[in-house]
Amino acid sequence: MSTSEALDPVIAAAFDHAGIKARIDNGKAKYYRRMVTLAGDLAGMRFLRDPALLNVFNDAQARIGAAYRLNELFALMRVGKGTARIQAVETLTALVQRQILLRGYVIACPVCRRSRWLYPDAVSEQMRCPACAALNHLPLDATFVYKLNAIYRTGFTQGALSVLLTALYYAERAASFTWGTCVIAEKHGLKTEIDLVCAVDGRLILIECKDKFIYQAEADFAALRDQLARGRMLAREIGAEFVFATAQSLDAVPPSIQAAMNGEMVLTSDVLV
Ligand SMILES: [Zn+2]
Repeated sequence: MSTSEALDPVIAAAFDHAGIKARIDNGKAKYYRRMVTLAGDLAGMRFLRDPALLNVFNDAQARIGAAYRLNELFALMRVGKGTARIQAVETLTALVQRQILLRGYVIACPVCRRSRWLYPDAVSEQMRCPACAALNHLPLDATFVYKLNAIYRTGFTQGALSVLLTALYYAERAASFTWGTCVIAEKHGLKTEIDLVCAVDGRLILIECKDKFIYQAEADFAALRDQLARGRMLAREIGAEFVFATAQSLDAVPPSIQAAMNGEMVLTSDVLV
């Protein structure tokens, strides 16, 4: 079965015109595409701007598949008991219906102690433990727990937040919009990967996206500065604009990266979230 995605024709033509081969790195791009599919469409991903939900999406445990009870989710989202709670219930309901957030039970076998995830339709009064074959009963106090769909977990780990927020930003401001993620451009054997390429009302925009900065020393950002330099060069070659986008605020962007982007467009959380 082929799951490859062809580069949008408008975007492909711009690269072609400059004599540059371009394709999508489907291994990474497929997660972004599936995230959007689960949400319905790109406009359906506006929930990525919800600060309460971002607390869940950015939670290190949630990203490795931790399951939370509803009350634990509310705590993670930092919503109190008032209107924010009502809003949170609405938001979570929509995510569960879309199976972006999965609902199930975590049942521990009393014999071998192994815990396992069960979807609601897999639960019955008596169940056999797959590890030790003992018969397990559904505990009286079994309650639903919720975990992020693996597609979202992988996507977020790969940097989906800034990529999808940026695509959404341009899509909402354009009459005509197409996009491609993880585009690999190749000329004379030199490969440059661009996180996001958008065709916005006839303008072509190459965007380097970064979710967050693990700050130690400016030297740590040498690879990113190099990536920015290559992206800018590629943009010039094909007559595109070059943009740097991050899900963080401008304060969080390291000075050397701000300097590297001097005079060019930087999109930060101020406009993206
Ligand atoms: Zn067992």
